[in-house]
Amino acid sequence: MKAITVEPRTPGSVRFEEVPEPDARDGSVLVQAVAVGVCGTDAEIVAGSFGAPPPGKTRLVLGHESLGRVLDPGPASSLSAGDLVAGIVRRPDPVPCPHCAVGEWDMCSNLLYTERGIQQIDGFMSERFRIEPEYALRIDASLGLLGVLLEPTAVVVKAWQHLEAVGRRAHWQPRSVLVTGAGPIGMLAAMLGTQRGLEVHVLDRVVSGPKPEIVRALGATYHTSFDRLGFDPDVVVECTGAGQVIADAVQAVAGGGVVCLVGVGHGGPIGLPSADVAAAMVLRNKAVFGSVNANRRHWQEAGEALGRAERSWLERLVTRREHPADFARALERGPDDVKVVLQFAEA
Ligand SMILES: [Zn+2]
Repeated sequence: MKAITVEPRTPGSVRFEEVPEPDARDGSVLVQAVAVGVCGTDAEIVAGSFGAPPPGKTRLVLGHESLGRVLDPGPASSLSAGDLVAGIVRRPDPVPCPHCAVGEWDMCSNLLYTERGIQQIDGFMSERFRIEPEYALRIDASLGLLGVLLEPTAVVVKAWQHLEAVGRRAHWQPRSVLVTGAGPIGMLAAMLGTQRGLEVHVLDRVVSGPKPEIVRALGATYHTSFDRLGFDPDVVVECTGAGQVIADAVQAVAGGGVVCLVGVGHGGPIGLPSADVAAAMVLRNKAVFGSVNANRRHWQEAGEALGRAERSWLERLVTRREHPADFARALERGPDDVKVVLQFAEA
């Protein structure tokens, strides 16, 4: 079968090549890949800055945002042939740490976890893959290709759940949310905000293309600058990872508000007055925290959230579908791209 593979930590090593059939050790369920989403983590692995191959191998099958069709459910699953499934990405560490011991691998504290397509387990960008039944989530057939959005949705479901837990440290009655960054994570975070009945605002630097329209179609307000925001959001979901945006988000959030950092960036503005940022937090009881990954609970709620969403709106998030052989083009994100997927088969 064909797969997109990479030698982690070696820039320029990615290729679409013939590989052996999936390893039986990856799980008893055999799945035909339908579509795999491409994200910034994939680009970082391809650039050589991230990732690790399975033990004893030099190359890793890329891809962690999966959608597939069950070919053989194996002896021990409640799945049936033909079911659409997505695969949970992270596996608990073998020690395990106290969090992994109770299934909260998203909170792993010793960092010895493994991840499909990222860290020591082959990913999903292969014509067929295997998975353990307990890590395969059945997807409502009516979602079709949109099931590929389950992984990024699970990530923002976790962010929202933690955000609400932090908010409830005192009286908590949020009315508005500002999402910074109109990429797939930002769009899905905004969608969950509308599902919670909040007034939703999205801020991004692009002024044209499909993103402002997609935001408006959600019933949300689109902004391009903090200067003209005109309100103090009770919640900020920060999805850019850009230093100045993070500082602006902390300043902008209302007293008692919560800023959830989901974006991952590098560096930051020189001379940022961090004590001033901290003082703004202290004097107005603001909370800032980070959130990454998702556990089974979040994946399950993500499936319900996608099921509730308007299909025609979700369809607009998948801005480009590429053939796996054109993976290089898929990895390049243009200003108009929200989610780019590699399509292996018809949904
Ligand atoms: Zn752990």
